[in-house]
Amino acid sequence: MPEPASPQPIRAGDGWRLPGIANLHSHAFQRAMAGLAERRTDPADSFWTWRETMYRFAERMTPDALHAVAAQVYAEMLEAGYTRVCEFHYVHHRPDGLPYDDPAEMSLALVAAARETGIRLTLLPVLYMAGGFDGRPLSARQRRFGHEVDAYLRLFEALRAREDETLRAGVALHSLRAVPEAAMREVLAALPARTPVHIHIAEQVGEVQDCLALRGARPVAWLLANAPVDAHWTLVHATHLDEAEIAGIARSGAVVALCPTTEANLGDGLFPLRAFLDAGGRWGVGSDSQISVSPVEELRWLEYGQRLVARRRNIAVGASESVGQTLLAGVAESAGAATGFDESDDWLLLDADAPVLAGATEQDVADRWIFSGNRPLLREAHVGGRRVVAEGRHLLADAIAADYGATLRRLLAA
Ligand SMILES: [Zn+2]
Repeated sequence: MPEPASPQPIRAGDGWRLPGIANLHSHAFQRAMAGLAERRTDPADSFWTWRETMYRFAERMTPDALHAVAAQVYAEMLEAGYTRVCEFHYVHHRPDGLPYDDPAEMSLALVAAARETGIRLTLLPVLYMAGGFDGRPLSARQRRFGHEVDAYLRLFEALRAREDETLRAGVALHSLRAVPEAAMREVLAALPARTPVHIHIAEQVGEVQDCLALRGARPVAWLLANAPVDAHWTLVHATHLDEAEIAGIARSGAVVALCPTTEANLGDGLFPLRAFLDAGGRWGVGSDSQISVSPVEELRWLEYGQRLVARRRNIAVGASESVGQTLLAGVAESAGAATGFDESDDWLLLDADAPVLAGATEQDVADRWIFSGNRPLLREAHVGGRRVVAEGRHLLADAIAADYGATLRRLLAA
C-alpha cells in the first residue's frame, strides 16, 4: 500500500491506517535503567543527580548488551507506532576510554538492532568533548563519550558509508556545554549538504545561566547567531526560551524535538508550545530516556502539560480544531527533515474493533486514539514493505525479550 497522503487515520478494511510516526530523540541504552532512578538520593534530586545513575549504567554497556537493549526498545517502539528513530548515541568507547578495535563497534550494535527489528534508524553519533562551558576535560565517567574532531568525522564517514534505505547517518552535537565553539564550526564545515544535525539545548535552567555567563547569550540565541541553523537542524528540548528565541527557531525552519514524559520525569520545565505554534514553529516528539515508549503518551502529555499551566483545554489546535489531528499533522510535517528519510511508505493499522474506537469517524479517530486510555490500539506496523508488528506484537518479540531479560539481569548484577 502507498503512504497515505494524509497524516490522519483513514478507514482501511477492519482497521484505521495512518503513517508511521518518527521518534526524534532516543538514547537506546537508557531503556535498561528506566524506573531505576525514582528513589530519593538527595533532597535536591534533579537532572544532575539522575545523570549520575545514568553514567553508572553507561559504564556497564558492552556492544552485546547495547545490541540486546536496543533491540528490545526498538521492538517496543514499533509496537507503539514509531517506525523511524533518531538515535543520539554517545557511548562510543571501551570502559577505559580507549576506542574499540573498530571505533564504530558500539554504533554498529545499534545498526544491527535496528536491522533485526526493522525500524528505520537515523544514527547520530554524538560529539562530546568538554565537561562544561568552561572547556574543562571530561570526567572519568564521561571518558567513553569523547572524541577529537578528526576521529569524530572518521566515525561519521564510516557510518555514512553504510547508509541504505533503512539507515541514515547524521550528526549530534551533545550540547553547547560539551562542544567548544571552534570544534562545532569545524564539524559543521565538513558535513555534506542536508545532513541532519541534532543538539540538546536549553533543557536546564543551570545550562541557560552558564551559557549567559560564559558565552554572553542564552543557548538558543547563541546557537542561532553562531551556527547555520536551518530546516535540517533538530533542537532537542529547547525548554527554556524567551520570545525572541521562539520566533528565531520558527524562522530558521528547525524542528524542536519535544520529549514530554522525559522532561517531566527529569523536572526540566515546560516548553512554550502555544507561543511556538503561533510563531509557525515545527516540532516532533521523542522517547529520549525510554521511561515511556509511546507516541500516544508523548502527544497526550505535550497537550496536558499546557492545559495544567494555562488552566484551559484544547491548546494544540491550528492545522485543525481537533487536538489529535493537529498533533498528528505536527509530527508528520517534521519527520522527513529531522530523520533524513525524506519519504517513507511506512504505515500503522489501528484496531477498528477496539471498544474505545467503536463508532469512530475520520473526524474523531485521532482524538480517540490519543485521548482515550492506555490499552494499545496498534495492530500492525509495516516498514519498507515488511510487516514487523502483527496482532500488536513485534514478530520477534519473544526472542528479543528473552535476550533482553538475560542481559538486564547481568547488567544489574555487575
Ligand atoms: Zn537526550
